[in-house]
Amino acid sequence: MDLAGIGTDNLRLIETDRQGAMALDQLEAAIASDRQCGRKPFLIVATAGSVNTGAFDNLSALAEIAQHNHLWLHVDGAFGALAVLSEQLRPRVAGIERAHSIAFDFHKWAHVPYDAGFLLARDSRAHYETFASSAAYLTRLPRGLGAGDVWPCDLGPDLSRGFRALKTWFTFQVFGAERIAACMLENCRAAEYLGERLRACALFELCAPISLNIVCFSVTAAQRDEINAEIVMELHTSGRAAPSITRLNQARVIRAAIVNHRTSIADMDEFFELLVRTAEVVLARVG
Ligand SMILES: *Cc1c(COP(=O)(O)O)cnc(C)c1O
Repeated sequence: MDLAGIGTDNLRLIETDRQGAMALDQLEAAIASDRQCGRKPFLIVATAGSVNTGAFDNLSALAEIAQHNHLWLHVDGAFGALAVLSEQLRPRVAGIERAHSIAFDFHKWAHVPYDAGFLLARDSRAHYETFASSAAYLTRLPRGLGAGDVWPCDLGPDLSRGFRALKTWFTFQVFGAERIAACMLENCRAAEYLGERLRACALFELCAPISLNIVCFSVTAAQRDEINAEIVMELHTSGRAAPSITRLNQARVIRAAIVNHRTSIADMDEFFELLVRTAEVVLARVG
């Protein structure tokens, strides 16, 4: 919003439901109230796989609302959009095919080396007109190096840019979409499994539904914000595991995002045991 010059003051954040999906009634109410105040809503930004918990919006319902209200539907699918590659995960992104634009990263779950962000826009004319420039040094010619209608710099803000498509193409050529999808599914299984182990242990509780490959959890003890942060720092400095800390409903929680193609169920067991030992040490010190 800032880069486009619209400003974040004009960004309306919509509440989410218990599953972490955008609350549709609140979105519709916000559109109506903005219009009543003379504002002009033009864009809905949906999420396919949120950073914090991996939650998905109901993209089909959002596509309906966008169509009904003549709004552009953009989907931030930074890592979650690639769930379309897996037959088992695909239902979670149902409706994404109705978006006007989708952004996602091949450098996340598709294992392409940094960076390989990607934007897909349905209306190629609008895409071109947004970024193409008529600068003198970009003059087109019928033949030679100045030939060609659409240049890469016509489709994004940067003029000098790396050949990101090549490494992305190579990744898919070498591994194939099926193997990448199989790794993603395995990561989701590992997340489910870690969730089961945490649920079965009185020391911990889950803090969000496991929608994909992300597990957010906390110790059940008092002073949990402080203890969760201590556990994460201990794990980082041990060099053995690297969960992160995030904030959910004002509480500090531990977030395990499982994305490595080599991570197995056995690794989850090892992580869980290390976690329990670390929590016990921290609780003895802080508690
Ligand atoms: C990673 C991520 C981003 C940021 O993407 P970058 O390519 O790192 O800029 C945005 N949204 C979601 C949901 C993400 O997971």
